[in-house]
Amino acid sequence: MVSVAEAVSIIHSHHFKPHAEEVEITKCIDRVLDEEILADRDFPPFDRVAMDGIAIQFASFESGCAEFKVEGIAAAGQPQSALAEQTSCIEVMTGSSLPLNTDTVVRYEDVAIENGHAVIKSSKLVKGQNIHAQASDARQSDTLLTPGTVLSPIEVALIATIGKPRVKVKSLPSFAIISTGDELVDIHETPHKHQIRRSNSYTLQAALQALNCKSTLHHLPDNKEKLSQELHKILDAHDVIILSGGVSKGKFDYVPEVLEQLGVEKHFHKVKQKPGKPFWFGSTQDKTVFALPGNPVSTTVCFYKYIRQWIWQSLGVNADVDVATLGVDFNFPAPLTYFLEVQVKNEGGRLIAYPKQGGGSGDFANLKEVNAFMELPEEVTSFKKGETYPIYLLR
Ligand code: AMP
Ligand code: MG
Repeated sequence: MVSVAEAVSIIHSHHFKPHAEEVEITKCIDRVLDEEILADRDFPPFDRVAMDGIAIQFASFESGCAEFKVEGIAAAGQPQSALAEQTSCIEVMTGSSLPLNTDTVVRYEDVAIENGHAVIKSSKLVKGQNIHAQASDARQSDTLLTPGTVLSPIEVALIATIGKPRVKVKSLPSFAIISTGDELVDIHETPHKHQIRRSNSYTLQAALQALNCKSTLHHLPDNKEKLSQELHKILDAHDVIILSGGVSKGKFDYVPEVLEQLGVEKHFHKVKQKPGKPFWFGSTQDKTVFALPGNPVSTTVCFYKYIRQWIWQSLGVNADVDVATLGVDFNFPAPLTYFLEVQVKNEGGRLIAYPKQGGGSGDFANLKEVNAFMELPEEVTSFKKGETYPIYLLR
């Protein structure tokens, strides 16, 4: 049996090694960038008019000129125009290129235009106003994004504006999710009284989906030979296997034994934690196997505590764990790390966690009231209101 800290350290010494893969920009959301994104030209690429109005030469205004003959109109999308006379102006639209020989834009609100002449009503002009100057945001070849960045809509805008329809992101491993247990039927079937539907498979698949990871679903019975035959094939075809069930002390819990027979090296079996104590972890040269206990709350805790962090860290994403403050006193006497089901609320800018205990590791209906697991350390038994502990957010 290993401690939670030992389990974490062992798991993180078996990261998967992503390579670069190209995806369409329309499919890159939440993926991890695997190339440098450089500005292909200046940002903005020309002196961009930032207000609808007129463009003038400031020196003319400064020397007393307040009425400017309108020479023409510059719309967005037209090549740069040029002002011919110092005491004239050009009407300019937001997004147009600032006309040559002008340096200041006066917005329509501060101008009266009549009979082809614009009279400036405001006395407070500043040279260069209402112009988004070329290269003021970034210069051509500047680094806009670095590898390891998680792509949000903000990054998508930058990738789009430099004209990249495809972008290199870190590849993700292929996952197989395997439920085990003779009492389990698929969700399309009507279970007998003594059977239940295999909900864990769908929890795990959805949790992976939220991380952009694809998975296939499988079910294996509590039968050593069948387990061995099928697991062998599934292992061959996937990078990461997540099993649920069959890792405890039951007479038909064959998963650890079969995995070792198939050449998967065990790194630990059993973690000093509740729920999720029977967790088994192993690997081969190029496969990683997480065999989680089948009780749905245990499966969920193990996913969010270990597997999500493992995926993030393998991708080089900053996976800092959140913390929250206990909202009430709480006791847990057993010498195990306890993953307390909590409801975390933002109270005046602080995250406060309120215990929402249900009926134990089988009661996954209780999780609908829960938005995080709070990790209460093994060596403490009495936890006080106001103390701060790590949390693993589910929502
Ligand atoms: P096990 O870890 O195989 O001893 O299973 C522990 C408990 O979790 C049993 O009551 C199982 O019926 C239940 N269980 C196992 N796998 C699943 C699953 N995929 N979905 C829902 N419950 C499960
Ligand atoms: Mg079972």
